[in-house]
Amino acid sequence: MGTHEARVIRAPRGSQLHTKGWVQEAALRMLMNNLDPEVAEHPEQLVVYGGIGKAARNWESFDAIVHSLQTLEDNETLLIQSGKPVAIFRTHPDAPRVLIANSNLVPAWANWETFHELDRKGLMMYGQMTAGSWIYIGTQGIVQGTYETFAECARQHFGGTLKGTITLSAGLGGMGGAQPLAVTMNDGVFIGIDVDRTRIEKRIQSRYCDILAETLEEALSIAEAAKSEGRPLSIGLLGNAAELLPRMLDLGFIPDVLTDQTSAHDPLNGYIPEGLTVETGRQLRAANPQEYVALAKKSIARHVQSMLALQSKGAVTFDYGNNIRQVAYDAGVRQAFSFPGFVPAYIRPQFCEGKGPFRWVALSGDPEDIYKTDAAVMREFPENEGLQRWIRLAQEKVSFQGLPARICWLGYGERARFGRIINGMVASGELSAPVVIGRDHLDAGSVASPNRETEAMQDGSDAVSDWPLLNAMVNTAAGASWVSLHHGGGVGMGYSQHAGMVVVADGSKEAEARLERVLTSDPGMGVVRHADAGYALAAETARSKGIRMPMLGG
Ligand code: NAD
Repeated sequence: MGTHEARVIRAPRGSQLHTKGWVQEAALRMLMNNLDPEVAEHPEQLVVYGGIGKAARNWESFDAIVHSLQTLEDNETLLIQSGKPVAIFRTHPDAPRVLIANSNLVPAWANWETFHELDRKGLMMYGQMTAGSWIYIGTQGIVQGTYETFAECARQHFGGTLKGTITLSAGLGGMGGAQPLAVTMNDGVFIGIDVDRTRIEKRIQSRYCDILAETLEEALSIAEAAKSEGRPLSIGLLGNAAELLPRMLDLGFIPDVLTDQTSAHDPLNGYIPEGLTVETGRQLRAANPQEYVALAKKSIARHVQSMLALQSKGAVTFDYGNNIRQVAYDAGVRQAFSFPGFVPAYIRPQFCEGKGPFRWVALSGDPEDIYKTDAAVMREFPENEGLQRWIRLAQEKVSFQGLPARICWLGYGERARFGRIINGMVASGELSAPVVIGRDHLDAGSVASPNRETEAMQDGSDAVSDWPLLNAMVNTAAGASWVSLHHGGGVGMGYSQHAGMVVVADGSKEAEARLERVLTSDPGMGVVRHADAGYALAAETARSKGIRMPMLGG
């Protein structure tokens, strides 16, 4: 890897093709965009976000993918196996140009030990969710979801706003870095602990976080002052969460809201044990991974014990999808699941209507293209106040990273409508190049993850993973531009299976038909999955929107 350290990847901009068609071009630009230093957390290692979530297995694979996409015909499909291009087959123009399977292991082998062993042998790669499926758009993607989550928390517990409250979390990495901005967008005060100074500095640079505090005392006094004035403020606090949460308890500090976004789902690579620095952690990880994991698990247990203690003193506490409860539970914290996951607490009702993190990217590289689509989405959905507020705040506060992109939560029916509008804007020349439309794997009908997206399903079907498999298959059949099936995203090996899709609006009639099909079947799967599990809102959505479910009663 050493020879590639100086490589800087950036997607081409503009309306000129470097491939044989816009779908191939879109895949090429989005792969490269995932590795843009403005977008990726550790681009030199091909790591995009979320611990070791990668875009390609190694640099040789990256080069081979690029070459394959450059030469791929409009009736061919490239197959990617854990970040390595393995075959090109003749298919047909409406088929996906790329099919991706990342990090999948047979269930009885689906654990980190097996994965790491295969990864060391060069046989696998961790795809996370949007890293290996080439539709990560930097921290903005997660800002929207985090904003929605904290807004719903505010509605349920604080009369609709976080004004005059302090939210405490840890982890200001690729996704966790969205928390400070999402909390201040909801008018609250935020303290985010991170052990890595460069992570905090990166968030301050991108204006997601306001200030850095070196000590706990400093952070608390600044936060309390802002809270009492009702002033939004975000603070990155340098330190280790496993060490600082117990000290907060000793000092009698109780946050109003409490969560965590360290990469606890991966104790070897994502969590720094108490007493270690980033550097000493790196050394121990290389020298003695078993000891490292044991220390990390011990610290995670202490961290969760402190979260439970703060919860019992009144902090509204939830797990933010990093599997920290499971890791602590396995390390002996029997009460670890006493606080809920954020999906059943705040997100599921939206999934029932097929709503989720819909996103689009301007392949031109021109921010104006996104501002034009912002205006279009606001025009099209004037009654959706949350969306209107989000687009205004995003324009004001969210800097673009890499290719300009936008995200907002749209549901069944809305996505297909808006997809058609974007395609029309490309066709008419109003936008200067085609647009890529995709989503996170964390969506209504594309993921099985019993400690996160499918926690506590009404019918107990949390662990059924037929749904993401069907989702990938129907999106392939419907003609998505690229489709991916991953394992272990978010919560780690053994705990999730999920599917991604991206579809390109290039202004053509063929694209319009594909967009219509994919953007209907994809969110439709979300409605169907939840209606099948017995959610009344989903059943009603299915009926009122005319989604055909042969066995939906009533
Ligand atoms: P990341 O690896 O980029 O960042 C993790 C951060 O945690 C790093 O900055 C690291 O320095 C810090 N950290 C590690 N150990 C620490 C400790 N003991 N004390 C303080 N800081 C510590 O990961 P990410 O992309 O930000 O994701 C974080 C986690 O949150 C992942 O597990 C991810 O799956 C989960 N997540 C879930 C959702 C969701 O919507 N469900 C959203 C965001 C993140």
